[in-house]
Amino acid sequence: MRREKTVLVTGGAGFLGSHLCDRLIADGHDVVCVDNFFTGSKRNIEHLIGHPRFELMRHDVTMPLYVEVDEIYNLACPASPIHYQHDPVQTTKTSVHGAINMLGLAKRLKCRIFQASTSEVYGDPSVHPQTEDYWGNVNPIGPRSCYDEGKRCAETLFFDYWRQHSLEIKVARIFNTYGPRMHPNDGRVVSNFIVQALQGRDITIYGEGNQTRSFCYVDDLIEGFVRLMSTASDVTGPVNLGNPGEFTIRQLAELAIEMTGSRSRLTFLPLPQDDPKQRRPDITQANALLGWEPAVPLREGMRQTIAYFDRLLASGNNAAAQ
Ligand code: NAD
Ligand code: UDP
Ligand code: UDP
Repeated sequence: MRREKTVLVTGGAGFLGSHLCDRLIADGHDVVCVDNFFTGSKRNIEHLIGHPRFELMRHDVTMPLYVEVDEIYNLACPASPIHYQHDPVQTTKTSVHGAINMLGLAKRLKCRIFQASTSEVYGDPSVHPQTEDYWGNVNPIGPRSCYDEGKRCAETLFFDYWRQHSLEIKVARIFNTYGPRMHPNDGRVVSNFIVQALQGRDITIYGEGNQTRSFCYVDDLIEGFVRLMSTASDVTGPVNLGNPGEFTIRQLAELAIEMTGSRSRLTFLPLPQDDPKQRRPDITQANALLGWEPAVPLREGMRQTIAYFDRLLASGNNAAAQ
């Protein structure tokens, strides 16, 4: 029997999607990468263009999609607050209509479908660290709601297709992930701090920097994706995927300055509305179900990410980072 599959990756030209495409190609699969290039970039996948097992389709997942594949990873959705708040109605449509279309596709093909859900389903959590059985503390009408509620509704759809149509679903709740190919102007904290430090600009801490996040290096996360997708058919998730190492935003800023040898100074800006105060995954389930835990410590991941942005800025591809 043929082990290699044809795998659809929506959002495949984005930060995580492009790393997933690389991994699937390396594992011998055929990859159909679908993206509307809202936040993704051809640069992330240009090394795959022309590869005999790689196919790129410009397509918006809020529209129906008819392709023939064996597995679907649904990653299409802007992930950084700046981008998902730019056109919040479109963000909800991408999560909800996108999920309906990809679930409809999976139903027709009777194939497995993976959903890139998020720790944002826990909102500003009152349970710490976050376990999968925690229902969350999400504002339904705030500036982050288009993303948080869109992703929550997508989870609902996944579980209803599973209950109603016996679809094989795999839902991952992804915690803050970083690494090469984050967009330099993406607005997320790791890319912001590294680019600011490399350019000697002020490091923009929102609030006092006492809020915490747990940062997972991209290679660890992709390993978790692939393991979750290959679990037995009765494993649905949701499963937390993230690195339990928890840091304050101020600690991250100091690390970025130290590791780049930068003369940047810290500057303190207002904390955005509904910004979660703390976040750390409980990964007991991922460990038990997938035998998975992150292997790359923050310093090592930061070293690789700094090297990536250093090259990017030096190559003159820094227009977006000004
Ligand atoms: P990203 O913005 O780099 O990638 C998202 C990709 O989806 C981009 O290539 C974008 O162009 C594409 N896209 C957006 N709307 C689309 C649409 N309507 N149709 C087709 N393509 C569309 O972000 P990322 O960090 O790679 O995130 C990927 C997925 O993982 C997202 O679903 C995100 O919510 C989820 N996630 C990421 C993180 C993280 O820390 N990186 C954390 C939690 C969840
Ligand atoms: N869909 C798709 N590709 C397919 C099959 C379905 O994009 O190969 C879309 C279709 O547009 C539909 C959605 O998925 O609106 C949900 O499909 P489902 O079969 O669940 O519902 P229905 O077609 O009955 O609305
Ligand atoms: N943050 C910050 N400065 C920045 C960007 C982000 O202090 O330049 C903070 C932000 O307020 C949040 C944390 O860093 O508390 C993580 O932000 P990010 O946008 O990366 O992810 P999310 O809030 O979705 O976890």
